[in-house]
Amino acid sequence: MTVAAAQAPSGAAQRIVVIGAGVVGVCVALYLQRDGHAVTLVDRQGPGEGASFGNGAVIGEESVVPVAMPGILGKVPGMLLDPLGPLAIRWSYLPRLAPWLLRFVAASRPAEVERISIALKALMDGAFDAFKPLLELAGAEAMLKRGGWVGVYETEDHFAAAQPYLEVQRRRGVALDVLPPEELRQLEPALAPGFHRGVYYPKVGHTVNNFRLVQELAAAFTREGGTLCRQEVRGFDFAGGDGAAPSAVVTEAGPLPCDAVVLAAGAWSRGLARQLGENPPLDTERGYHMHLPNPGVAPRIPVYSTTYGFVSTPLEHGLRLAGTVELGGLEAAPNWKRAEVLLTHARRFFPGLDTRETEPWMGHRPSMPDSLPVISRGRRHRKAFFAFGHGHCGLMLSARSGKLIADLVAGRDPGMDLAPYRVDRF
Ligand SMILES: Cc1cc2nc3c(=O)[nH]c(=O)nc-3n(C[C@H](O)[C@H](O)[C@H](O)COP(=O)(O)OP(=O)(O)OC[C@H]3O[C@@H](n4cnc5c(N)ncnc54)[C@H](O)[C@@H]3O)c2cc1C
Repeated sequence: MTVAAAQAPSGAAQRIVVIGAGVVGVCVALYLQRDGHAVTLVDRQGPGEGASFGNGAVIGEESVVPVAMPGILGKVPGMLLDPLGPLAIRWSYLPRLAPWLLRFVAASRPAEVERISIALKALMDGAFDAFKPLLELAGAEAMLKRGGWVGVYETEDHFAAAQPYLEVQRRRGVALDVLPPEELRQLEPALAPGFHRGVYYPKVGHTVNNFRLVQELAAAFTREGGTLCRQEVRGFDFAGGDGAAPSAVVTEAGPLPCDAVVLAAGAWSRGLARQLGENPPLDTERGYHMHLPNPGVAPRIPVYSTTYGFVSTPLEHGLRLAGTVELGGLEAAPNWKRAEVLLTHARRFFPGLDTRETEPWMGHRPSMPDSLPVISRGRRHRKAFFAFGHGHCGLMLSARSGKLIADLVAGRDPGMDLAPYRVDRF
């Protein structure tokens, strides 16, 4: 008996099209399949080839602090002046970004930070467990490790400046240990000496290969009878339906008839959401990675540079340096210097780092200005569902989002208040 059959509710099966086969869409598709629905997953690329291809591979309950914190406004001039800093804005994109940026700054008010961090924590709490049934189904349990990660502070000033972040984490009950230099090096012997402090988060995990993880999950989905379509979605057909959902998702190759639709197209979701009657203020925080297939050093756990905003994660096929934020929209060409500068920083972290072979990458985080994802039913069409905007946390919240969307589709109690993640909250 398949897992899908074992979990099927009686008489409620629907034809559901999930748009987007990133880590979020694949997890949504698997959870819907477990409920016995006939699921079609459609993507113009192969599974996991969007933002899910090159992320930092970290799955962490510590991510309860929104990107916009009090004082962010004061950092904007520096961002504009330093194209290689941890946060950068493309001048040419500023006029289009302005409405998003205003909401982003509004989200940095202390009361908002508190509200948002509570809403993030509510999602993080079930994040790891939600992967379990999907990994079991895919036979990929070994792909997730839970050995913690460590944030490194280079100077006393950096550590002092981080106290508001750590206070939010402590208020949310995140497990963390502040480590003096000698304990930091005992924890992670690959690190250079001389860093001021480390903050170790023992409950954080990571996957040994974030791209292969999506592919294994997608393979399990098709093995269980799901349909994977490689097509561009152009829009929706509402003719002949009852208004609760489009009657078909329209692709470049023709219509895919459906009873319900889930939009999980990552940073590209906004245009399709508009066609479904919603207008979420979604934009993108572009991020870069430099992958080192033969790094010559082997950190035990992911190491986060708090100063430069990137993580160094040990993967099964090398060391991944990933992170930073560039606000520049979906169309601008990558600025590869932003990936190269990661090498300069990482060399100081890991003595002996071999940077002769490098693979640079740029990806588009799907980002809402309040750092909260959209996990929602439609306001206009009740059988249109939305799962995008996961920003920095798409991998870690993917399985949890899938489970919650399946609850919404089934009309089950999700066990938590989903109002903070509504598509029409702005
Ligand atoms: C440098 C970097 C580091 C990161 N590190 C981490 C980390 O350590 N941990 C973490 O949790 N998150 C991390 N993230 C964020 C994470 O990668 C994203 O939040 C996540 O991948 C988003 O997944 P998604 O499925 O929503 O989007 P995507 O993976 O982008 O998938 C969206 C899919 O939709 C498809 N699509 C779009 N439009 C259409 C259309 N019209 N028709 C058909 N298909 C369409 C695309 O082809 C794409 O495959 C990082 C991101 C970056 C850039």
